[in-house]
Amino acid sequence: MNLYDLLASRFPKDPNAPRRADPKAPCFLMPDGGSFSYMFLEAAAAQVAGKLVALGVQPGDRVALQAEKSVECICVYLGTLKAGAVYVPLNSAYTQAEVDYFLGDAEPKVFVTDPLEWMRDLPDYEALEQGVARSDDDLASLIYTSGTTGRSKGAMLSHGNLAANALALHAAWGFTSDDVLLHALPIFHVHGLFVALHCALLSGAPMVWLPKFADAEVLAGLDRATVMMGVPTFYTRLLANPGFTRARADNIRVFICGSAPLLPSTFAEFEERTGQRILERYGMSEAVIITTNPLDGDRIGGSVGYPLPGVELRIGGGEEAPSVGSADTSPSGGGTGVIQIRGPSVFSGYWRMPEKTAEEFTEGFFITGDVGRRDPDGRVWISGRAKDLIISGGYNVYPKEVELVLDELPGVTESAVIGVPHPDFGEGVVAVVMGEGDEAAMIAQARAQLAAYKAPKRVVFVDELPRNAMGKVQKNLLRQRYEHLFEA
Ligand code: AMP
Repeated sequence: MNLYDLLASRFPKDPNAPRRADPKAPCFLMPDGGSFSYMFLEAAAAQVAGKLVALGVQPGDRVALQAEKSVECICVYLGTLKAGAVYVPLNSAYTQAEVDYFLGDAEPKVFVTDPLEWMRDLPDYEALEQGVARSDDDLASLIYTSGTTGRSKGAMLSHGNLAANALALHAAWGFTSDDVLLHALPIFHVHGLFVALHCALLSGAPMVWLPKFADAEVLAGLDRATVMMGVPTFYTRLLANPGFTRARADNIRVFICGSAPLLPSTFAEFEERTGQRILERYGMSEAVIITTNPLDGDRIGGSVGYPLPGVELRIGGGEEAPSVGSADTSPSGGGTGVIQIRGPSVFSGYWRMPEKTAEEFTEGFFITGDVGRRDPDGRVWISGRAKDLIISGGYNVYPKEVELVLDELPGVTESAVIGVPHPDFGEGVVAVVMGEGDEAAMIAQARAQLAAYKAPKRVVFVDELPRNAMGKVQKNLLRQRYEHLFEA
């Protein structure tokens, strides 16, 4: 089934349905008080699809879009699905040179940079009422990975991948047509585009639609919404705002977080302020969402929860893989290794990179590159990225283990631990600390809790850690910045 048809089958339209059944029901609630209805969305998707077909777009052709977040971007996305084409969203921050690379790689038939302008002449085209039939394996979208090492790769996600994940999340997080989703995420990434948007569309529910995270608009939006999704930075920014009170959070039935690790201190502070536990989940461009904490049941800070139904998750070479390190920071033992996954939402490979694809799959499992473990309850704990592993004097150092110790020290807001070239040790452990303190004292405090080879040899204090649009700390930039730190 075409993913668009699945989503549209849930739009409010049946006047006899028991719940909200008004096609004019809002889909997007705008900050200025206006709204766009589901009827508008459906009509726009049919018109966009009609224009694409008229422009010669065939099923499987790519349609790329690079633009600031808007309702029109969503119309282009849904119209592209409906026409059977493959949607390629590009980060609005990409430079011309970066865009040139993506266009050369994806070879889109159509590239939209101003969706409002592009949609102006839609009434001139015949709308495509019937979506182009697609099978589960047909491509729906190419998502370029953030590419912190080497060339950015296009993850090929099919109609079946996206439908399976959307249905699983919709069920796991208990979405209904009575929900209102606060949407302040970017929509060139799986989080805002597939996770958040699909949950709302499958519910035929409205979204408080914000162009970006801005404190005042988010606080006002919380009064109208029932679910919020965000990256960890959204939650730290809310907590830093005295206007974010328990009463403000009361209308929200669940706060969902992911795309980067949520600090246990943020989880705890959030619970103290609001009485609510953030629901953390774990995902990636190559598989959308993989694990989630439970909606009903214990949400544990620091754990990303359980694999979604249908997802098989194993560590290293097998379920009982031997420990490859001592990054074990969860309450009970179990092997730590690289997380591998298999299931209906796992992508089929990287666009035009069959060799790279083959390297990253083993026995049908995708090797995520994330290091983690499962505890005896089956919960998953992530301890970092395999490529962030530091090897110092022949010993493996897992940055997360060191960061957890540093983050507890007075004066530290957040830390990022990296390895940089060291004349004696190969790599030397460096802590980049957001906050203030004394370098020698902090090294001594770390040494009191960690084996000497794990403790940082240098601590650098900064005001802010570099982050990408999804709130992930860009360790590649830190490694570059400090690569000469240990030179004589
Ligand atoms: P992307 O493909 O840009 O979505 O990045 C995916 C990566 O983000 C994953 O492989 C993880 O390293 C990281 N990530 C996503 N969610 C979490 C989480 N809840 N905790 C820790 N890391 C996460």
